[in-house]
Amino acid sequence: MIIIGFPRFIHIYQTASAPAPDAKVVVEEINKILPSYKIDIRPPFKYDEEMIERAKIVDIKQPVEKQPNHEQDSKMMKMTIPLYDGFVMQKELAEMIPTVEISLDHIHIIFTSLLTCTFSEEDWRYHGRAVICGTPSIVSTTGIVEALAKPREFYLAQLLGGMAEDKDILKKKFSGRFIDYGEEDKITAASINYALQAIFFFITSGEPFCNNKDCRLFNAHWQEDLIHTIKKRTLCSYHRNLANKLSKGQTRAGKF
Ligand SMILES: [Zn+2]
Repeated sequence: MIIIGFPRFIHIYQTASAPAPDAKVVVEEINKILPSYKIDIRPPFKYDEEMIERAKIVDIKQPVEKQPNHEQDSKMMKMTIPLYDGFVMQKELAEMIPTVEISLDHIHIIFTSLLTCTFSEEDWRYHGRAVICGTPSIVSTTGIVEALAKPREFYLAQLLGGMAEDKDILKKKFSGRFIDYGEEDKITAASINYALQAIFFFITSGEPFCNNKDCRLFNAHWQEDLIHTIKKRTLCSYHRNLANKLSKGQTRAGKF
């Protein structure tokens, strides 16, 4: 793996609405792993509602350029959580970052409760995403709850119980095996993992994900896998070494 960038500043923007991670805990944890980085917590990232509207997805089976007129199809949105194209959103938000902070020295991580998604040409539809890496990186806290799959048995029980099955009873039955709204500790822990992925995206050749199921950089598709990495609270030896090397290099030379 080639190391391509050497950021020194990490800016974390807290989300304006729940679910919200404890940003202080996120910073403390990143600091332990990458002690030479300067990390600051900022107020929620300011953006124009109109800009974000451009990223809104009405029909999940059409890419962003083929989205129907929003007003016409607003009825389709009423039943579900609104989805936002992560890359369009990223492009819009990038325009709000001051030019001096656009260099590789700076990583911007925006926590948001908006549900981000990306279009897959494999099955020609949008899928929810918890993290969009780049400038800025976006961590969707709603994505942590909604974008990753719950245990198979959860869906099965929901199917078997039909619409009559009380969702609260179902959630109780599977408690601890998925992440729900209001579980701030888990949302904070998951946010640390996604923030780390966003950072490693810059310090590796754009490939932050790990195949090791114990590593915090593991790209979990199931909430149970994410919960496993949260409990482990560790990086694999390869990524730990990489983090150590970066920190030492920066301390010794001031800059890589
Ligand atoms: Zn790893």
